[in-house]
Order: sequence, then structure tokens, then C-alpha cells
Amino acid sequence: MNVSIYRGTVVYAAEKERLAAFSGANIVVEDGFVKNVLKQVPEEYAGLTVKDFGDALIIPAFSDLHIHASQYAQRGVGMDKLLFEWLRDYTFPQEAKFADCRYAEKVYDALVKDLIRHGTFHASIFTTIHTEASDILFRKLAERGLYAYTGKVNMDCNAPDYLCEKTAESLRDTERFLLEHQGYATVKPILTPRFAPTCSEKLIKGLGKLAKKYACGVQTHLVESIAEAAWTKELFPDYSCETAIYEQAGLLDYGPSVFAHVIFPAREDITILRKSRSVSVHCPDATANITAGIMPAAALLKAELPVAVGTDIGAGPNPAVYRQIARAVQLSKLKAFFEPEGNEPISFAEAFYMATKAGGSIFDRVGSLEPGYRFNALVLDGLADDFSEMTPEEQLERFCYAGDDRNIIARYLDGREISP
Ligand SMILES: [Zn+2]
Repeated sequence: MNVSIYRGTVVYAAEKERLAAFSGANIVVEDGFVKNVLKQVPEEYAGLTVKDFGDALIIPAFSDLHIHASQYAQRGVGMDKLLFEWLRDYTFPQEAKFADCRYAEKVYDALVKDLIRHGTFHASIFTTIHTEASDILFRKLAERGLYAYTGKVNMDCNAPDYLCEKTAESLRDTERFLLEHQGYATVKPILTPRFAPTCSEKLIKGLGKLAKKYACGVQTHLVESIAEAAWTKELFPDYSCETAIYEQAGLLDYGPSVFAHVIFPAREDITILRKSRSVSVHCPDATANITAGIMPAAALLKAELPVAVGTDIGAGPNPAVYRQIARAVQLSKLKAFFEPEGNEPISFAEAFYMATKAGGSIFDRVGSLEPGYRFNALVLDGLADDFSEMTPEEQLERFCYAGDDRNIIARYLDGREISP
């Protein structure tokens, strides 16, 4: 058995409303899993060297449940556009470039490094319609041992000609992608219809059959903006709500279902999301940048839905999930201010929980540092001032608002130290 011990201030969110913090703690890691967090090193480990991080914080690595890998190349660009202009002028032309695998290599390499740099070790990621380029990302994630779901995008209507697939081809390529990516330890394929307006009913039903055949989950966008929700209703008039389109196709039965944005859910959406334990992903920067709106995060948490956090690169310009924790709190306050009915601010602890344990829940034992969880962890330093006392919780909050990757002095994945 391989045992390591790390000393520092351990902080994690075991439950929604509360952070657990242990100063001067020893975290015992056995074969990559947290065995215990203890004040004293137990007698049985007396001969082991303790890696002492002093007053630094040891926290769980982050989970980013909504990323467009191809859009990494356009992050922070075109941010003064509205959604449909931004798609037409930046995003779709950018996605078309992924027909070239050499280009995909470069972009996906840079993205994976940047995820590690910012402490995101668990992610759910869209690629583009291109199967070969999607394979490149899958392999890069697997090589680095990151925990991820990733899938090639499907769209067979209402998309520019150069990105619009034939329904049968889209299904055939998706099946090939699923078949070729079975059996990896940490990365798994996931079905990725872009969003309802760019997918025919035939395509969505076909994906439902693949979900059953390969026991896999789905990721997509859901009730993202008023315009998108209205358009979907027009295109799918026979469904009680947008989530029902995926439910009735059998897409919510076999793996995680991950829905980005969920800004304008109807009561029927909430019912299905709760029943299927689907995860709603809050991407505050992105939905502000494209003026989609602000997720009613407090209301979804109150309705007992699992809610995670995403950067939504590239509508969100920054791969740092910790910044989205801060933004989630900030925007929940704005929403409660402008729309007080039914909306409340969320707390920092809730937002941190969303970005770690809730997001981690679609993987295997990641997102916390409770005993039994994988030691997927970050060590943070340089957050306290020397002229005043700060609690560990305050230092963590400061990191999310004002820190950056320079504060991350060590990164552990399955108990191994890694670097970008
Ligand atoms: Zn998105």
C-alpha cells in the first residue's frame, strides 16, 4: 500500500450550506484515496515523512461541467456581441477549423494544460461535429488522467451548411465515437446534441437508442434564453417542456445528464430534472456575456436539484472555475435585487459546493476531501495578509474572487503530483 501524508489547512464542502475547515491537519492518503484528516499523525505512520505545507490551504480540485473545447481558441473575443451574432461571426467559423486535426491538436493541447493549471481535474466537455478531432481531445484527457466526459457534437438542422450533418451520418459517426472510446478508466464518451433547435426529432430519438445500447449519458444546453426556449417550443410543439424532448428519447436513463444554463425552466422541466437527478450547470460569466440571463440558482437548489458550475469556454472567457464561484454569488445577488420574487442570493459555501462536490458527483468519488474520496487536490498559498488574521474560509473566498493560478503551489490527481 502506498501511503502519503500532507499537512496544511484542509477545506472542503461536504454539504451544501457549510464549509468544513481543519487547521494544522494531516491528510492521510492511501493508494490515491483520502483515508482520514487528523490532528495528529497516527502511530502506525510514525516512520513516514509528512509533506508540510504550513498554513497553506488544501482543497479539492474543481469540476467544470460545461466547456466547449474548440471555443478555447476564441476565449475573450467578440464579447460585445449578442448570442446569434457571436455564433455566426466567431463560434461557427472557429468550429469549422476542427476539420483539420493539426489545428485541433494545438488547441486541445493548450486547453488541457490550462485546465490543469487552473485546478480543473473533472470536466464535461463539448467538442465539435468532427469525430477525428474529438478523438484527439479524448486521448489527451485520458493521457493526463483527468476525469472527463466528452462527446462529439450533433447538429443536423438550423446550422450553417458547413457545420450541418446529415442525420444518418451524425448517428453513424457518434456510434463510431462511442465504440472507439469504451473502457477508459477516467474519460468516458457522452452524447452531445448541441441544443434542441439544431437537432431534428429523428436525430434526438436516434441518440436515445445509442444511449441505451452503450449505456451513456447526455450533455446539452437547456432553456438557455427566452428566444431559444420559444424557438424550441415552436420546433417541438408536442412536448410538455424542453427537458421532455430528451426524457422521451430515453436520453436520461443510462448515464449522467448534464444541462447547461437552465435559466428559464418550466415547472415540468424541474419535475423531470429532479426525477432523473440531472445536473443543471450554472455558467454565470457566459450567460451574462451573451445576455441569455441569470440562472435562478437559489430556486433550483431549493427545489433539490443538483446544481454545478461551468466556465462555458468560450462564451465564458476564463478557464478558472474558481472565478465562476465568485460570479455565481455576485449574479445571484443581482438577480435577487432586480427580480426579488422567488430569487435569493446564494452563499459562498453553496457556490463552492456546486463547483466541487456537486459537479464531482457525475464522476467516481471526486470533489471532496472526505475519507473515501480521491486525493484530487490543490494547495493554495499567498492568500492571507501579514497585517491581519484571516480564517481559512475567508482565504478560500479571497482566492475565488481575487486569486489566480499563481496561488496554486501544488496539484494532486489520484494522489500523484502533477503540473500543467
Ligand atoms: Zn455552451
